[in-house]
Amino acid sequence: MGNEQTKYPGLPPLPPPFVKEFPPIAVVVEEKCIACDRCPPLCFFDAIIMENRPEHKYKRTAVVVPENCTGCGLCFEACPVDAFLWTPDKTAGSGPLRAAQETDKDMDV
Ligand code: SF4
Ligand code: SF4
Repeated sequence: MGNEQTKYPGLPPLPPPFVKEFPPIAVVVEEKCIACDRCPPLCFFDAIIMENRPEHKYKRTAVVVPENCTGCGLCFEACPVDAFLWTPDKTAGSGPLRAAQETDKDMDV
């Protein structure tokens, strides 16, 4: 109570402090992922895929495709083990969605 800066209880602040320098994107801490499959269908931007890792106790892990991530934060809500972290997107503008957003800004209509 009182001084939480989080949008959702127990989750990191949104937006992260580096948002002014780089757009925030999500990243999966793969050691925490239990392959529950909740996050890929939840992501509106197809930014989360499941990858195989046969040597691990959990045989797959979620992975964020940085070019597609918009930093919406929904995956943080989905994950039962808090496997998502924020990271600065230093490739901002390279992905299709961000490129489209930039194109929209440049359009004359
Ligand atoms: S922050 Fe949003 S766009 Fe990025 S991976 Fe999570 S749900 Fe998908
Ligand atoms: S919601 Fe969390 S534990 Fe489940 S697949 Fe996604 S990252 Fe892994």
